[in-house]
Amino acid sequence: MEYPSPSPHWGDGEDAGFWAFDIQLTEKNLVEYTGVTKKELDFIRSIVDPERVSTGESVLDLHSKDESFHPRRKPDVVVWPLSAVEISQILKLADAKRIPVTPWGAGTSLEGNPIPVKAGIVLDLQQMNHILELRAEDLQVRIEAGVIYKELNQHLSRFGLFFPPDPGASATIGGMVGNNASGVRTIKYGATKDFVLSMVVVLPSGEIIRVGTNAVKSSSGYDLCRLFVGSEGTLGVVTEVTLRLIGLPAEFMAAVVQFRSIREATDTVFQIMRSGLSPAALEFLDAPTVQVVNQFKKLSLEERPTLFIEFHGTSAAGLKEDLEMVKEICGENRPLRFDSGIGREERNRLWEARYGVHESIKASNPGLSPLVIDTAVPISKYSDMVEWGQKIVKEKGLQGYAFGHAGNGNLHMEIMGIPEEEVQWQKVQEAAEEIVHFALGCGGTATGEHGIGIGKRKFMKEEHGESLLLMKQIKKLVDPNGIMNPGKIFD
Ligand SMILES: Cc1cc2nc3c(=O)[nH]c(=O)nc-3n(C[C@H](O)[C@H](O)[C@H](O)COP(=O)(O)OP(=O)(O)OC[C@H]3O[C@@H](n4cnc5c(N)ncnc54)[C@H](O)[C@@H]3O)c2cc1C
Repeated sequence: MEYPSPSPHWGDGEDAGFWAFDIQLTEKNLVEYTGVTKKELDFIRSIVDPERVSTGESVLDLHSKDESFHPRRKPDVVVWPLSAVEISQILKLADAKRIPVTPWGAGTSLEGNPIPVKAGIVLDLQQMNHILELRAEDLQVRIEAGVIYKELNQHLSRFGLFFPPDPGASATIGGMVGNNASGVRTIKYGATKDFVLSMVVVLPSGEIIRVGTNAVKSSSGYDLCRLFVGSEGTLGVVTEVTLRLIGLPAEFMAAVVQFRSIREATDTVFQIMRSGLSPAALEFLDAPTVQVVNQFKKLSLEERPTLFIEFHGTSAAGLKEDLEMVKEICGENRPLRFDSGIGREERNRLWEARYGVHESIKASNPGLSPLVIDTAVPISKYSDMVEWGQKIVKEKGLQGYAFGHAGNGNLHMEIMGIPEEEVQWQKVQEAAEEIVHFALGCGGTATGEHGIGIGKRKFMKEEHGESLLLMKQIKKLVDPNGIMNPGKIFD
C-alpha cells in the first residue's frame, strides 16, 4: 500500500515531523484493531501539544456516550486538535494503522452518532472555536467547526444577523453539520444543509479539501457540501464552515393554542400550512408532554394537545393580520384556549413551555430512558402518524410522550423504558419500529433531524432501497479503510 502524498495545502515545516515518523505499513484490517499502541500515542503527542492528548479515565468516560440510551464505549485516546493540519497528520497515521477515528462536537446527539463504538481516537473539536471572518455585508460568516451555535448567534445578534437552525441543545456547528441538524425554525428558514455554503474538510487520507463556494447559488458540478452535511463524521472531519445568515426579524408574534383532541390540533397544523401563511415555528405537544412540562417548569397550562406558533415579520401591523388569520383557522377546530401576543417578550412568555421538553420528560421518569422517535412524513399524513404512534404505545402498555416540529411533519415520540430490562426494552424497540415503518409507508423518513447513528441503521434499506448501495460505494471511495466513525449509518 502506498502512503498518500502530502496535500498541496501543507507547509513543509508542518509536515517534517510526520514524515520523519517511521510508519510500518501493514495490511491490518479495522476488525483486527486492538488499541492505540504506545508508539502511536507518542507520535500523536509529537503532532499536538501533549496537554491536548488524554487517556485519562474521566476524559474517556465523558467521550463514551451521547444523550441517547445507546451503550457507552470509551475511546482509547481523546485529542483536541487546533488546526486542519494537525487533524490531517492524525488521520494519516490512523489511516495507515487502521485506527478508528470519531469526530466529536458537544456529544449532544440522540442516536449514538458520536459514540466511538470501535474505540480508537476521538477528535474533540471544541478548542477549534473561533469565528474567523464575519462578512456582514454578504450575510456570511466563516467559523471553525467547534463554535457553539448559541454563542455564534449571540455574536451575530450584535450585527442584526442570525443562523436559524436551532437544535435546542448546546451543539457545535461541526456537530450540526454532522447530523444536518434542524429545529423549531426550520419550517420557515431551513435546516443546516440550507445554510452551508462552503467547508474545509480533512479526508481520511489526510488530504485537506475545500468544498463549495461563497456564492449563495451554484450549478457547478456535484454538490459536495451536501454530501458531507449529514454524513455523521463517516467521510471526514469538517474543520471550517462558511454559513449563509439571515437578518434578525424586527417583530415577533406568538400564539399558544389548546385543543380537545390530538386530531383537532394536528389538523390545524395542516390547515395553517395550506393557507399560504409562513409560520416561523409550528410545534405540537400532546397532553402527557404538557403535563410533565407543567410539573418540571411549574407552569399551569391546560393538559391538552397544544400548538406553539410563531411568526416573524417587519411590522406589528402585518403580524396582526397573520394573527387574525391563524385565529380563524384554529377556530374551525374548536380550540379550548387561544393565547397570543406580539413582541419578543410576549413570544418568550408564551414559548416558555416549549423549551426543556426532553429534560422535563427525563425528570418526571427517574430511572427510565427514552427511545426518541424522529420520523417525518408529508404534512397531510402528520395527524395519522401521531395517532398511530399513540395507539401503538398504548397497545404495548408503554409510556410515550409525543411532540415535535409539526409544521415540518416531524414527530418526536419519547418512549420510556429501561434498556437493561430485556423484555420491556424489546417492546419499546418494537413500538419504535412500528412507528418508523408507518412513516416510511407514507413516503416519510426514519429521521427528520437526529441522524442515523446506531439506532436507525436497520431502516436504511427500507428507506433508501437500491440507492443504499451507492451510499456504501461513496463511503468506500472516500474512506477505503473504513476508519471514520465506523459502525454508524451502515451496519
Ligand atoms: C435536549 C435535546 C434537544 C435536541 N433537539 C434537537 C433538535 O431540535 N433538532 C436537532 O436536529 N437535533 C436536536 N438534538 C440533537 C443534537 O443536539 C444535534 O444533533 C446536534 O447537532 C449535535 O451537535 P453536537 O455538537 O453535540 O455533535 P455531536 O453529538 O458531538 O456529533 C454529532 C455527529 O457529528 C459528527 N461530528 C461532530 N463534529 C464533527 C466535525 N467537525 N466534522 C465531522 N463530523 C463531526 C460526530 O461524529 C457525530 O456523528 C437535541 C439534543 C438534545 C439533548
